[in-house]
Amino acid sequence: MSKKLLLEIVTPDRKVLSQDVDYVGAPGALGEFGVLPNHIPFLSALGIGNLYYKDEGKIHYVFVSGGFAEVSPEKVTVLAEAAEKATDIDLERARKAQERAQQRLQRAQEKIDHARAQAALRRALARMSCRNSGEKAGTC
Ligand code: ATP
Repeated sequence: MSKKLLLEIVTPDRKVLSQDVDYVGAPGALGEFGVLPNHIPFLSALGIGNLYYKDEGKIHYVFVSGGFAEVSPEKVTVLAEAAEKATDIDLERARKAQERAQQRLQRAQEKIDHARAQAALRRALARMSCRNSGEKAGTC
């Protein structure tokens, strides 16, 4: 029985993380789910939010947006549209993205523009909350 899980997070441009961890909590499209070593296999779509993992008693946060997580007894593979470790999040950029999205939301006439601005706003807020959580946990 494996005591650790390999967590791999990749995006279309890069490998964000590959690490042995004790626990993974992820923002599934239908709600958060948690994975310990030896979990039964499953596949889940991911929403916009913060994934976290526990390692050596510390909690680390990673922003993820869209994509899938594949769970097997020894491994969690995350294929995300975008992902950043809390330490790599540029807070100023997220604040600017938040402002832009809020302005676009006010102007949006078409449903599709509204939905895009809404998603951009959710990404910006989740990035800020990810960075905050990392700082509070002392891992950022
Ligand atoms: P922006 O308008 O600032 O580009 P966005 O939400 O549209 O934000 P995404 O499409 O999710 O950005 O991501 C595009 C690329 O930029 C990805 O590689 C993502 O990791 C990176 N990225 C976006 N925002 C940030 C941020 N605040 N800090 C670090 N990397 C970021």
